[in-house]
Amino acid sequence: MRSREYLVSLGLAKPGRGRLSLEAKEALRKAVANGMTFDDITTSQPKPETKIQSDIVIKSRPQVSMQRATPPNSKASIVRNENVMYGISKAEKPGESNVVIALTACDKCSKSINRCPCVSGPVLPKFLGGTPGMLTRPNV
Ligand SMILES: [Zn+2]
Repeated sequence: MRSREYLVSLGLAKPGRGRLSLEAKEALRKAVANGMTFDDITTSQPKPETKIQSDIVIKSRPQVSMQRATPPNSKASIVRNENVMYGISKAEKPGESNVVIALTACDKCSKSINRCPCVSGPVLPKFLGGTPGMLTRPNV
């Protein structure tokens, strides 16, 4: 049976072509809802629920390494404020005067005066006695 035939049978539509009244459409809708089938109406079956993929993988961000590049802690190796030591080159001949010589490196460890770790302090070179140098300029 065609839907129009059904409606005609109900007196809600006229045979042949023509727009269906709202009343006719409503009657048709109810008929379909009640399980009636018509040759020209395809009742849409309730679609099986589309399974929504829920396994959305939230990619974890690559672990950010928080390791900081350790800057060379230059301050730590500074063991004293002075960076110059003084030695006295003694006069060898009469008439000569002692000469104060400033040195910026320890003769023992070869490090600069302010970084020299030598226990007794930066050491003067042999020609100045090979002893720990003075960290303050001597008055000669
Ligand atoms: Zn030293």
